This record gives sequence, C-alpha cells and structure tokens, in this order.
Amino acid sequence: MESSGIREAPGRGPRVLVVGGGIAGLGAAQRLCCCSALPSLRVLEATARAGGRIRSERSFGGVVEVGAHWIHGPSQSNPVFQLAARYGLLGEKELSEENQLVETGGHVGLPSVTYTSSGGSVSLELVAEMSSLFYSLIDQTREFLHSAEAPAPSVGEYLKKQIREHVASWAEGEGTKMLKLAILNNLFNVECCVSGTHSMDLVALAPFGEYTVLPGLDCTFPGGYQGLTDRMAASLPTDVMVFDKPVKTIRWNGSFQEASAPGEAFPVLVECEDGGCFPAHHVIVTVPLGFLKGHLDTFFEPPLPPEKVEAIRKIGFGTNNKIFLEFEEPFWEPGCERIQVVWEDLSPLEDVAPELQDAWFKKLIGFWVLPASGACHVLCGFIAGLESEFMETLSDEDVLLSLTQVLRRVTGNPRLPAPRSVLRSRWHSAPYTRGSYSYVAVGSSGDDLDLLAQPLPADGKGAQLQVLFAGEATHRTFYSTTHGALLSGWREADRLISLWDLQAQRPGPRL
Ligand SMILES: Cc1cc2nc3c(=O)[nH]c(=O)nc-3n(C[C@H](O)[C@H](O)[C@H](O)COP(=O)(O)OP(=O)(O)OC[C@H]3O[C@@H](n4cnc5c(N)ncnc54)[C@H](O)[C@@H]3O)c2cc1C
Repeated sequence: MESSGIREAPGRGPRVLVVGGGIAGLGAAQRLCCCSALPSLRVLEATARAGGRIRSERSFGGVVEVGAHWIHGPSQSNPVFQLAARYGLLGEKELSEENQLVETGGHVGLPSVTYTSSGGSVSLELVAEMSSLFYSLIDQTREFLHSAEAPAPSVGEYLKKQIREHVASWAEGEGTKMLKLAILNNLFNVECCVSGTHSMDLVALAPFGEYTVLPGLDCTFPGGYQGLTDRMAASLPTDVMVFDKPVKTIRWNGSFQEASAPGEAFPVLVECEDGGCFPAHHVIVTVPLGFLKGHLDTFFEPPLPPEKVEAIRKIGFGTNNKIFLEFEEPFWEPGCERIQVVWEDLSPLEDVAPELQDAWFKKLIGFWVLPASGACHVLCGFIAGLESEFMETLSDEDVLLSLTQVLRRVTGNPRLPAPRSVLRSRWHSAPYTRGSYSYVAVGSSGDDLDLLAQPLPADGKGAQLQVLFAGEATHRTFYSTTHGALLSGWREADRLISLWDLQAQRPGPRL
C-alpha cells in the first residue's frame, strides 16, 4: 500500500477522514476538533479550495457568488446565520430583528419590472395577481404531506391541474389570457431554479411540504459567502485540510495495516486518485449527490447496499446556474432590484420542447441587479434544467451574444449596448459536483434522504461506524441549502462523538 505521504498526528485517538471540504465537511471537522476525544483528523478535498458549492469570486470590482447566494431564512434557528453573525460577516440590516421576523413562506418577491418578448412591459398589478395565484397554489402543494393519497404525482402536474380550472373562469380576452399564462410560465421556471430541477413535473408532490422554510428575509454576505467557509477552514488546526486530493475509492469492512502503526488494524482505507492511501477508523463522506450518482460503481468497495444505491439513484439532483452580465451603464431604473423576462409564446399548459440551441435562453427567469460597485453595473441571471446544462456547453461569446439579443428584444431597444463582459457558473460540468443541489423527485421521498444519511455497516452491530454520510442531500427538511449541509456535518460528527463517549463508558480498549 502506498502511504499518504502525510505524517499522521501522534497519539492513538480514533482516526477520522472527512471526504469533501464544503460546508458539511468543514462543519463536521470543526465539531470533531472541539471534541475531548481529539481524533486524528484529515479533510480530503478534491479541489484547491475549501467551500465547495459556496464559491465567491472577486470580479467586476466587487464580489460575485458563483454558488450559494442567500442565507435562506436568516434567523436564530438557522445555524449558518448564527455562525456568520458570530464571525462578524453580516451587516446591520441582515442582523436586525426586523429582518429576522419576516415570514416569506419561501416565496420569491415581486420583480421591479417585467419585460415581455414583444418589447413591452407588464403592469405590476397583473404580475402581482399571477404571483399571488401561483404562490397560493404552491402553498397548497405543501398540504399533502400527511394525506393518504396526493392528487397528482408531481408538483408540476398538480399546479397545472389547478391552473386549468382557474383559466376556465378567466373572463378576459385571448391576449390577456395568454399573457397571464406566460407570466405563470416564468414562475414555473423560477420554481425550477429554486428546486434545482429541469421541470416541476419531476418534483414529487406528497413530500414537497417536508422542506422547511425558516423565518427571515433572505440575505447575502456583504463580503462574499465564501468568507464563512474560509473562516471555518482557517479555524482548523494546520494540516487538517488536504487540498488537491480527489478520493477514488473508499474501501470499508476491511482490516488494513499501516507501517507506522504496527499491530493496529483499520476498517477503512481511502484511496486517492494520486495513489495516496489513508487508513482510518471512520470516514465521513460529504461529496455532492451528483458526484455519487456518477461514481457509484467505483467509489465504494465493497459496493453500497442495494437500498442505499436505490436511494442515490432516486433522489433528484438538477442544475441551476447563474449568468453575470457587466454593463458600462445601467439601462435599468435607479432602485430596480429585479428584472423579470416573460416569453409570450410560452404557457405552462403546453408542452413544447424546441431545439435547445434555438431557445435555451427562454428558460432564463430574468435578472437580479447586484449592488453597484464603482463603475461596475452587473445583472445576475438564473437558469435551470437542461437549458442550463446546454448553456454550459456554449462559449462566453455565444452566451453574451444571445443574451444581448434577448435584452434588446425585451426592452424594445435594438441599440441597447452589449454587456462589457460575462461570467457564469457551470455546475453541471464541474467534475466534483455534477449539478447544483438535490430535490425529492417523483418516485422518492424523505425516507430516501434519511436512508442516504444512514451510516455503514448497516446492521448497527458492534457500534463500529465506518462510513458516515453528510452533505445537503442527507438533510430531510433542509436539503439543497447551506444550513442543511452544515447541520448534516454536525450530525455525523456528533454521531462519532457519542460513539466514543459510549465506548469510554464501557470497559475494554478505547479506539
Ligand atoms: C448555483 C447555486 C446556488 C445556490 N444558492 C443557494 C442559496 O442561495 N442558499 C443556500 O442555502 N444554498 C444554495 N445553494 C446550495 C448550497 O450551495 C449547497 O447546498 C451547499 O453548499 C452544499 O454543501 P455540501 O458541503 O453538502 O457540498 P459541497 O459544498 O458541494 O462540498 C462537497 C465537497 O466535496 C468535494 N469532493 C467531491 N468529490 C470529491 C472526491 N472524490 N474527493 C474529495 N473531495 C471531493 C467537492 O470538491 C466539494 O468541495 C446553491 C448552490 C448552487 C450550485
């Protein structure tokens, strides 16, 4: 066995590896470092940086969030909010009690302006009417959690059924009806971004209400989200973080020796892409579900039990990307916070699938206006699904050209200056992520997320926890969020800490 080449800390405490240095892995490592059993600990991270899907880049004279954007539900029950506040990373407004008390129900607020594909704008009243209809239906979808039978398999099918009934009672002319449906279509696309899915028809209806919304008006980090994970990584003892160490295979249920620890047998051996090997008593796996789905055949040896494999296959993991456009001068009004773009030829009630290259940009929901910094004026667009994955295959020039044409068309200004530059995320192509975040897909339920979170070996005998699972996709009610990921890391660290406490109380050798 080729050794890791990394000197292990002296002492005979339990040896723990964490695979993945996103917020789940960092949270687990921080918690373990505070534990009195003081494990010998390493976090093996495939890339050159900590943070994973929390990724802030210095660009356009400020900071842009390539990954996580908001603290969802920033209030006292949100551990990301608490940690960020403790590190002094939030501003006065974000910390205010007033902000923490806002109940949004998880709904996206109204846009400042709504442009249409024919170059006009829609009255705020009509947008508000459609938004209120859409979110009242979304609220209804959350009511089927404990009912014996949901009225439809997916959130999308339920919404469409309800909308059809509403349309039957609309008294306006054809043109207005079509515009209303086009606005609703945009709201479906917004919801696809929220759920990280291609279509709401893929999102299971019955368990949808299990996702829990915390109070508080979503807020951002003035200096960048990554300030949080940077601080977490910096708080760990030196040598704990090992970068550029992609893990290839996790061997478990074994008995592995190491020359530097004669006579000691380790049940787990983590093999890295570069040939390095790390024997351990326990490994906490925090790699994204997208990576797990793509590497199921080789990542575990022996393979995972069939029911866990099934859960990994069934839980949804889709793509949501951001496209940042930088302008010389803003074309939007001062105070504008969000621009919505509505395609008048689209309706959620009609399933048309035009060629991706001709119409990928129609899935873009519009743009958030980023706070101006100096001479930089930046819009941040969101796009989900297969169209988003297709966008990743295009060049920057193609994306910039397409979106310039879209903006000229919807503003009715054929001479609108093209953006100065473009920057975008490509989460589907990112080899150690393979998508954006998880959702409960048709055919799966919250039980699958719990199943994914179960440690191995599964028989629970001998209290010999070898492989533990954390990461956003393992949190039943906060999946897809940074706080869900952080809590999952803490959960698995606590699982080990209580194991050691239990063993300390029993007679016999301690790990
Ligand atoms: C575009 C986008 C927008 C988002 N917006 C929000 C938001 O506004 N609010 C919010 O709460 N959440 C948001 N999220 C979700 C949030 O970012 C994630 O839920 C959270 O960061 C996941 O943390 P994690 O630790 O579970 O996984 P990750 O952050 O993905 O960490 C996993 C780590 O494992 C590493 N890894 C993978 N494979 C290997 C391997 N073989 N060996 C070693 N290391 C490996 C990866 O490099 C990565 O660093 C967003 C995500 C995206 C992509």
